[in-house]
Amino acid sequence: MEDPNSGKIDLEGLKKQFSKIIDSLKKIQLKKIDFSKVREIESKKKITYLKIALSSFMIVTILALSVTGYRIHEAKLKAYDVYLGQYKMGTIRDQEEIQLVIENLKRDLSSRYHMDIALHEDISFEETKAKDQMITSVEDLERSFMEKVDFKVYGYMLKVNGLEVGSLKTKEEIEDIIERIKEPYIAMMEGIELKDIRIVEDIEIVKEEMPLYKIGNPEKIYEYLVTSTEVVRTHTVEVGESLWTIAKIYDLTVDDLITANPERNPDKLQIGDEIKLVVPKPVLTVATVAEVEYTEKVKFDTETEYDKNMYKTEKKTKVAGVSGEKLVTANEIKYNGILEEKEIVWEEVVKEPVTEVVVRGTKEPPKTVATGLFLMPTRGTISSRYGMRWGRMHNGLDIAAKMGTPINAADGGTVVFAGTKSTYGKMVEVDHGNGYKTRYAHCSSILVKVGDKVYKGQHIANVGNTGNSTGPHLHFEVLKNGKNQNPANFVK
Ligand SMILES: [Zn+2]
Repeated sequence: MEDPNSGKIDLEGLKKQFSKIIDSLKKIQLKKIDFSKVREIESKKKITYLKIALSSFMIVTILALSVTGYRIHEAKLKAYDVYLGQYKMGTIRDQEEIQLVIENLKRDLSSRYHMDIALHEDISFEETKAKDQMITSVEDLERSFMEKVDFKVYGYMLKVNGLEVGSLKTKEEIEDIIERIKEPYIAMMEGIELKDIRIVEDIEIVKEEMPLYKIGNPEKIYEYLVTSTEVVRTHTVEVGESLWTIAKIYDLTVDDLITANPERNPDKLQIGDEIKLVVPKPVLTVATVAEVEYTEKVKFDTETEYDKNMYKTEKKTKVAGVSGEKLVTANEIKYNGILEEKEIVWEEVVKEPVTEVVVRGTKEPPKTVATGLFLMPTRGTISSRYGMRWGRMHNGLDIAAKMGTPINAADGGTVVFAGTKSTYGKMVEVDHGNGYKTRYAHCSSILVKVGDKVYKGQHIANVGNTGNSTGPHLHFEVLKNGKNQNPANFVK
C-alpha cells in the first residue's frame, strides 16, 4: 500500500471522484465501442444508451463507494496507454475518452473548414496502472491528436495544363477566382458585344482526398494566377505612335519600354521600328472574343494599256484610280486585352474602287527624246555653285575647264537658242520637252542651230570665255517650267 490513506474512506476525495466520473459519463456516447471502427460510428442513436449507461453506472458506483475505499483505489489505478499507430498519445482511465477526443476534433475541424473530415488512423490500447497525476488531460490528448493524426479532407485541386496550382475547400472558391480573373477584361469590353470569354489554358478542378495542410488560401492562388512569368513581344511602330501611346496599348509604363529597348532614343521613333515589349504573362490567359464593325479601304487595281504611237519611255494615266470602301464585321480575339487574332466574319464593299488605267508606249524612242535624267555636260572642276554670290543670285553651276573642251547636251531635246545673248556670251538652250530646259553659256563655239534635235551626250559646243566671264568655264543652268533650279540636284 503506497497510499497512507488507503483503507480509510476519504469522503471529500470520493465526492470529487464521483463528480469526475459523472462528468466523464456525460461525455460518453456509447457504452461499448469497437475502436477499430471508430469513424463508422453514428452519433444519433446514443442518447438512450447514454441514459441507461449513466444510471446503471451510478448504481454500480454508489455500490462501490459503499463497500471500501481500497476497492475504489484499486479501480482508480486501472488505466490504458493509448497508441496512435506507433505513437503513445497518453494514458487514460477510460477508453471512451478517445472517442470523445476524436469526435471533438472532427466537430472542431468540420466547423472551421466546413468540410467532412476523414480519419484513417489506427488507435490501440494497452492496459496499465496509473496514478491520477499520470493521466493525460483531454486538452493534452486533443493537442497530441491534432499534431499526429493525418486528417484527410476532401478538397478541390486546380490544375492548369495538367500542373497542380493549388487546392481549396470548395469548387466554388476556385470558380470564383477564375471569374475574378475574367472580370477586368469584361469591364474593358464594356459597350462592345462580347461573344465569348474563356481561359486559354486547360483548366481542371479535381475533387480529391488530401491532407488538411494542402488546403490553400484563395487570395494566394489568385495572386499566383494573375502574376508570374514575362514574355517578350514586339510592336511595330505605326504613324503617329510614340512610346507613350504604345505603353498605353499594352498597359505598360514608358519606363518599362525604355528599359526593354535601351538602344532606342524614345524621342526618335521611326515608322516600322520594332519595339520590344516585356509583357507580363500570367499563368492564366483570358481570351475575349468580341464582334467589331469597321470600314476599311479597298485598294484599286491598275491596268496597263499599250500604245504603239507612244515611246517606251512615255507613260500616262488614262483613268485615275480611286480606292473603294468596305464594311467589315470581324471577331477580335484578345489575349489579356491585347489583340491576338482577327477573324473576318463578313464583309461588304460599300464603295467599289475605280481601276486605274495606265497607258505605256511600245515605240523605241529616238535618241533625241529626253530620258528625264541629266548627265554632267562637260569635264572640269566646279568653280562656283548655284545660289547667292557677291550679293547677287548666281543661277547656274560653273564648271571650269580648258578652252575648247567639248560641251555635251545633258539630255535629249530640241535646240531653242543658239547664239550670243548679252552677259551669257555664246549660249545654247535646249528644250527637253518634259518641262525642263538647260542652258550652256560662255561657249567659244557652237555646233548646233535652232530647231536641231540633239541626243543626250551630243557634242553641241565648246568651253570658252565669251560674255561676262573671267576665264574659260561652262555656266550651266537647269530650268523647270521656266524657273531656275539648282543644277547640282540633277547632275552628280
Ligand atoms: Zn556662271
